Amino acid sequence: MILRDVESYSRAQLDEIKLNKLKWVIEWVYDRVPFYKQRFDKIGLKPHHIKTLKDIEHVPFTTKSDLRDNYPFGMFAVQMDDIVRIHASSGTTGKPTVVGYTHNDIEMWAELMARALASAGVHKGDILQNAYGYGLFTGGLGIHYGAEKLGAAVIPMSGGNTQKQVMLMQDFGTTVLTCTPSYALNIVEVAREMGVGRSSLKLKAGVFGAEPWTENMRKEIEEKLEIDAIDIYGLSEIMGPGVAVECLEGKNGLHLYEDHFLPEIIDPEKLQPVAYGEKGELVITTLTKEAIPLVRYRTRDLTTLNADHCVCGRTTLRMGRITGRTDDMLIIRGVNVFPSQIESVILKIDGVEPYYQLIVDRDGPLDTLEVRVEVNDRIPFDEIKVLETMERKIEHDIKDYLGVNARVKLVEPKSIERSAGKAVRVIDKRKKQ
Ligand SMILES: [Zn+2]
Repeated sequence: MILRDVESYSRAQLDEIKLNKLKWVIEWVYDRVPFYKQRFDKIGLKPHHIKTLKDIEHVPFTTKSDLRDNYPFGMFAVQMDDIVRIHASSGTTGKPTVVGYTHNDIEMWAELMARALASAGVHKGDILQNAYGYGLFTGGLGIHYGAEKLGAAVIPMSGGNTQKQVMLMQDFGTTVLTCTPSYALNIVEVAREMGVGRSSLKLKAGVFGAEPWTENMRKEIEEKLEIDAIDIYGLSEIMGPGVAVECLEGKNGLHLYEDHFLPEIIDPEKLQPVAYGEKGELVITTLTKEAIPLVRYRTRDLTTLNADHCVCGRTTLRMGRITGRTDDMLIIRGVNVFPSQIESVILKIDGVEPYYQLIVDRDGPLDTLEVRVEVNDRIPFDEIKVLETMERKIEHDIKDYLGVNARVKLVEPKSIERSAGKAVRVIDKRKKQ
């Protein structure tokens, strides 16, 4: 295990680093980004007012719509000729969110991704098949640079072309797979169809992220692929993958790189900080990024932070699994529902596969939720009684866990569309009405 010195610093040492860098970033954005200067001036905030870490609570939040309003380069803190890379996140509606990187930013990102992969047990000598999408999305290139920096051999496969993924995995002796968790399952399925047995693969680990997934999903992937499945977190606005990652030894929360990012958890309604261990929205201030530093950026991701001791020796704060995004939250007859909560219920049921879709619609004034779940091929699909019993059981469990009435419809194996990137879990027909 390779541990950077900074990863085992005491809390006091970490806080000192964070405070110095926080002062730097506040001054950096105040001097260079008109958006921040105006925001701070409006409330009379000057960079020298930041004297302690707690003073960050006086600083206004930044949101995704601020990035959109300043499209494309209005939030940049450097001249365009200092930018060496531009990424953008796919907006489902309207313009994408654009981020830029200086040479130092790219170096820092590669370094953090190398640390993240090392934390997942990857090292020089590994053959890493990168099935995250390459392109405007940060996943592909983010992992790529980190893996090279670490000294692993990278196969830049990108997403899709699943039969070829399996072929190369077998022929090249891939030891590490990186992609979304849902795509990992898709690869397993195609490998089975191709008659490729586990014994012909050298896979030992997978680093999975870019969509929320549950502990049950981890179990499923680890059993099917016989690997360690490690959760990684990041978002393009903040950097891309590598903001936080689990360690192989603990697999219990994601170590967040506090020497580069200052995390807070807030109550998304009251916008007040909550205590360690309490769930809320993750807010991040970048501490070292030059091109597009963000101050108190509201990620919309719901999680917890804790400062408990970890078996791996890292002392940084750990994030809980992302349980959902405030953006993804469905309100069904007044009840808040996250797709990941449904996932954790259905993956406890024998006989179903981790492929599901939520169809939300309206029946007169009332919201309806249909949950489509695939059965596996051991369930006799023509025995209606068996299916009905399973459906009622899942409906009962969803009601019990979430307090919401859902209609469960079991569907045949392989009937839900597979995705090579982020899976489409929700079809909300109410939006079209
Ligand atoms: Zn750890």
